[in-house]
Amino acid sequence: MRKVLASFAWSAAVLGLVAPWTGLAAGGARPVAVGASCALLLIGCIVGAFMHAVPRFLVLAVVTTGASAAGGAYLVATGATTDTARVLRDCLLLGAHVLLCATLFAVTRRRLRTDGRAVLVDGAVVGLGSWVVLWVLLLQPALSGSQGLPAVTTLRGVTLTLLAVALFLLATVVFSDAQPTPTVSLSSLAVIGILCGQILYLVDARDTTSIGTSVLLAPFLSAGALAGGAMLHPSSRILMSPSRRRSAPPLMARLVTVTASMVVPVILLSATDPVSADDRTVRTVSVVVLAAAVMTRVVQAVRANARTQANLVRNAQTDPLTGLPNRNAMLELIEDSTSEAWGTPRQPTVLFIDVDRFKNINDSLGHSAGDDVLLEVSRRLVGSVPAHARVGRISGDEFVVLDPATESATQAVVLAEHVLDSLRAPLSLRQGDMFVSASIGVAMAVRSLSLTADEILRHADTAMYRAKAAGRNCIAFFDDSMVERVTHRLDIETALYRALEREEVHLVHQPIIDTRLGIVVGFESLMRWDRGDNGTVSPAEFIPIAEETGTIVPLGSWALLDALTNLRQWMDTGTCGPHTTISVNVSARQLHDPTFVSVVSDSLSRSGVPPDRLWLEVTESVMIAEPTQALASLRQLNSLGVRIAIDDFGTGYSSLSLLQRFPIQRVKIDRAFVNELRADGGSHTLVRTIIAMAESLGADVVAEGVETMEQMDILSSLQCHKAQGYLISHPVASGAVASTVTALEDSAHWRR
Ligand code: C2E
Ligand code: CA
Ligand code: CA
Repeated sequence: MRKVLASFAWSAAVLGLVAPWTGLAAGGARPVAVGASCALLLIGCIVGAFMHAVPRFLVLAVVTTGASAAGGAYLVATGATTDTARVLRDCLLLGAHVLLCATLFAVTRRRLRTDGRAVLVDGAVVGLGSWVVLWVLLLQPALSGSQGLPAVTTLRGVTLTLLAVALFLLATVVFSDAQPTPTVSLSSLAVIGILCGQILYLVDARDTTSIGTSVLLAPFLSAGALAGGAMLHPSSRILMSPSRRRSAPPLMARLVTVTASMVVPVILLSATDPVSADDRTVRTVSVVVLAAAVMTRVVQAVRANARTQANLVRNAQTDPLTGLPNRNAMLELIEDSTSEAWGTPRQPTVLFIDVDRFKNINDSLGHSAGDDVLLEVSRRLVGSVPAHARVGRISGDEFVVLDPATESATQAVVLAEHVLDSLRAPLSLRQGDMFVSASIGVAMAVRSLSLTADEILRHADTAMYRAKAAGRNCIAFFDDSMVERVTHRLDIETALYRALEREEVHLVHQPIIDTRLGIVVGFESLMRWDRGDNGTVSPAEFIPIAEETGTIVPLGSWALLDALTNLRQWMDTGTCGPHTTISVNVSARQLHDPTFVSVVSDSLSRSGVPPDRLWLEVTESVMIAEPTQALASLRQLNSLGVRIAIDDFGTGYSSLSLLQRFPIQRVKIDRAFVNELRADGGSHTLVRTIIAMAESLGADVVAEGVETMEQMDILSSLQCHKAQGYLISHPVASGAVASTVTALEDSAHWRR
């Protein structure tokens, strides 16, 4: 049923569009044909409106407009000549225009979006421009011509004026940034049709010209057909509802049309002379109004531009989530406050606030919960600082507070405590209550130092890290020792890169003994770094840095080859027995290096040491990070004949099941546990457990850091017979190894 209706309506509209043109081609238009075509159109419109539930007001407007236009058209077609008929005809056409303007106005109001006012003014310029053109070319000649009936002349004047208004409204609809629908396009074309028809009609009314009836009617009837099409299209339903914004508003077309509407009237006015005093007045008033509209538009454009600029600046300076100043804005504010504080007792305070374990919140509850937390935290922060202080969010979970008015460290700390307190109460979120805490670093723009904003912020950041290290949920004040620490570390980092080529590193060797056999069974090689005039750096300090920066890879390779070369020498000179081994420490970083296995086998072949004389000591950490890669390397090393010892055993977090997967032939009991061994009651359970575990893995056991005879005795009683520690010998330089071995094996007071 709907389909039948739709096809009927469409054919009616198409027929209405075609009929007048065929009539035109045939050289005449029969009133009957015109009437039939109008009727078809009206039916089409009504059916379409019914199908698409078009707003009733709109249907009424279109139908009455169409009806009055059709009536006018009918009278034109019959070639009415009586005065009454002529007045009636023009009345009907005027009525159609009034209704058209009212409809357009209603549609325009609904379709205008964000830049509504600018579009309205542009439309006004177009309307006024066309009014001037219409006046000069049509209306003024019509008024001054000898047309006879003054009523008709007045009617035409008003109609023409309405024409300009319709053009204005049409321009507004076309220029608006609402997405145009087929209905909008079709109705715009229909309006243009009516306008063309009206212009032709007025041209015809002049004494000098005469246009055929068919030509006069064609635009009106086409307009009717287009209006019918517009009503029939499904998009007519949403003609009056606020529409989608279009992605590319017709800016260029708008600019060209508006410019033309300003330029063409000006050219026209300067090219023609006013014919009467009335004409002059109309021209002058029109130009003044047009100029006013253009001026309004210019002012508007300048203002809009300024607004856009301000928006851009604001966006570049604010954090989109919280609306707080971002990093750049905060740096500017800090800079301003420090320069303003010059010569006053004020020392602005900067707090660097990091939400503790925010990553956990994000990972476990999701990002929207994370955003909620940040929003709530930002609200608390803003509420907790004095009104003159500024709060900013500089990245993820990092906030900054600037108080430009503080004068002492006490005030700065009080401020930080306020902030920390403000976060104590649980945050009530959609997901439920949640507790958060923060670590706060405090830095001040100290008067005696001219610090940049960047430096002050960095100081606060450094202090914040100390607060984190101190267990979170606390405040740390920046002091110079922090700078010293940072500089010192940087100094070590850079010096480490050169340490090898400057030959600042060497190895020392600590004997490992077998208490039952009374002999030295091996050595552990340990690295030493002697920076000449800059003193020595302990491995506990530089090894972690070397691991972090990656310098441990070349350093470790060097240590491996050097240790093996030393062992080769001791073997050759008979310093040590034929089964003596050498232990070399290997960091996780080295083990994860894909070339590590070949580095080891190279060093073995270059030094000529049998692989079973080499122990590689790794810590539990290598098993935890990237265990598969480590496992593969360790297996390969094992198959070369190299043995693996697990170092500092018991201090890491590896599980027994993880341990079982690794090819381990030795366990070294950490110094910390050996240290606990005391004859008077101390618990030996831990050491006993480690020894049992090692046995179950089929590994031998070495106790590290043995310092007393008492510890050695207990270890022997627990069936641990290999030991290393200051009791036996400190690590010694390679030249002193021979004498150390002799002394140890000769006295053998530690033998059990
Ligand atoms: P580690 O592998 O546990 O080495 C044993 C550490 O304990 C050595 O410290 C050694 O001098 C010390 N020590 C030995 N006996 C005793 C004792 O009876 N009492 C006390 N208090 N300490 C004792 P060192 O030489 O300072 O080395 C510290 C750490 O640096 C080593 O711990 C090792 O993890 C690392 N390290 C040293 N050299 C190298 C190396 O060439 N490569 C790698 N990757 N790490 C190394
Ligand atoms: Ca070790
Ligand atoms: Ca150790």
